[in-house]
Amino acid sequence: MSTTEVENYPGFPEGVTGPELMERMRQQALRWGAELYEEDVVSVDFSKRPFEIKSEDRTMRANAIILATGATAKRLRIPSEEKFWSKGISACAICDGASPAFAQKELAVVGGGDSACEEAIYLTKYASKVHLLVRGEEMRASKAMRDRVLDSSDVIVHYNTSVEDAAGNAQGFLESLKLVNTKTNESIPEPLKVAGMFYGIGHTPNTKFLDSQLGTDEDGFIIVSDHDKTSTSVEGVFSAGDVHDKEWRQAITAAGSGCQAAISTERYLQMNKLLKEVKMMDTKDAKEEIEAAKKKEAEAPKKKTHEPAIDADNFDIDRQKHQGQYALRKLYHESPRPLVVMYTSPTCGPCKRLKPMLSTVLDEYEKSIHYVEIDIAKDPEIAESAGIMGTPCVQVFKDKARVAVINGVKMKSEYRKIFSEQLIESSAA
Ligand SMILES: Cc1cc2nc3c(=O)[nH]c(=O)nc-3n(C[C@H](O)[C@H](O)[C@H](O)COP(=O)(O)OP(=O)(O)OC[C@H]3O[C@@H](n4cnc5c(N)ncnc54)[C@H](O)[C@@H]3O)c2cc1C
Repeated sequence: MSTTEVENYPGFPEGVTGPELMERMRQQALRWGAELYEEDVVSVDFSKRPFEIKSEDRTMRANAIILATGATAKRLRIPSEEKFWSKGISACAICDGASPAFAQKELAVVGGGDSACEEAIYLTKYASKVHLLVRGEEMRASKAMRDRVLDSSDVIVHYNTSVEDAAGNAQGFLESLKLVNTKTNESIPEPLKVAGMFYGIGHTPNTKFLDSQLGTDEDGFIIVSDHDKTSTSVEGVFSAGDVHDKEWRQAITAAGSGCQAAISTERYLQMNKLLKEVKMMDTKDAKEEIEAAKKKEAEAPKKKTHEPAIDADNFDIDRQKHQGQYALRKLYHESPRPLVVMYTSPTCGPCKRLKPMLSTVLDEYEKSIHYVEIDIAKDPEIAESAGIMGTPCVQVFKDKARVAVINGVKMKSEYRKIFSEQLIESSAA
């Protein structure tokens, strides 16, 4: 879950951040004996029993599987999309629409289906006006949804209209959209002044790695049985959350679906005599174990490569991993190696996912690549001069030139590929 503030998850009257909610769930799962591997699954083989699951680092076997890989909102990928992502451009009106930045401002929704119409109606609660940008001659939404939009005096529908690009204000927030007439393919001269643009053009489920071994619908969403809402077309493989849910897509509905899938899985394993009992730690043991692990970590000698270099007193160019602007400046000017810079921020959930993953990949290049982590809250001027508008962002430099920029969290193989390419080029030069 990559969202920041979650206000509608039951049990958190003050709200909770997405990363904190995930961390609490993680701790709870660990206490109940779960083993966690933070890796991307690249392929599965459902023709074998036990099933085979492969990541880049290992192959695992399992008598039953729950697929909970979620769905990624589709975007138009206009040229300045990354620049205004989370600074006016969003893919979730229900999640972000209530933000004070949008209150009583004109907003736009892109799309003409049921989701886009629903988002447009929803946003009228906060916006002064909502512009619905429909690519075709008419809306694809159901008649009921169309009527709701057309009956609302707060929604203006623009047919045959698509977004070409966006422009921002001096603070770097979205200010206007450059539109195009899809019928004539001509740009519309007058920019549409809006503070927010929300995509309502559907979601792509994260099911590519399944390689069509399961029944999915035409959009790739896993088809689950009507009976228990979690069984799939392969016996022993279950589905939970947004990877099959086209309609509700909320943290609480995904959690509920996960619970259904877990119970179905337990029943399946029991019926097939495959159930293996794992003893849960009692609360006292768990607390003691967590305390002991914390103590051990505090006492353990720090691994050399993980020790951050913050200033002149502890900077050592022979180390691979560093932190902060002092190290960045030194390495930028003095390191003969390719330099990887990761920009993070304290509230960024995806940064927490990326850090250990990137660290594992960097360990493979311990003597050949330098690394610096920059917290943009601590070093805002560095982030500004590097043009950072969102985190995590990884930039790779060679001979003082920026050679690659990777926004968001990608698979380990993508980082490996870029790092290796830079090393090959270095040795060839
Ligand atoms: C901007 C935004 C704001 C939101 N705000 C709210 C809110 O305020 N309240 C609310 O209730 N809901 C909110 N939602 C919706 C909510 O986040 C989702 O409904 C929920 O997280 C779905 O849970 P899930 O477990 O099905 O999928 P996800 O939370 O998407 O988790 C899927 C996980 O699977 C991983 N994964 C994908 N492919 C692979 C692979 N091949 N191998 C290994 N791992 C893989 C992903 O990296 C991810 O960690 C928001 C969504 C967005 C995009």
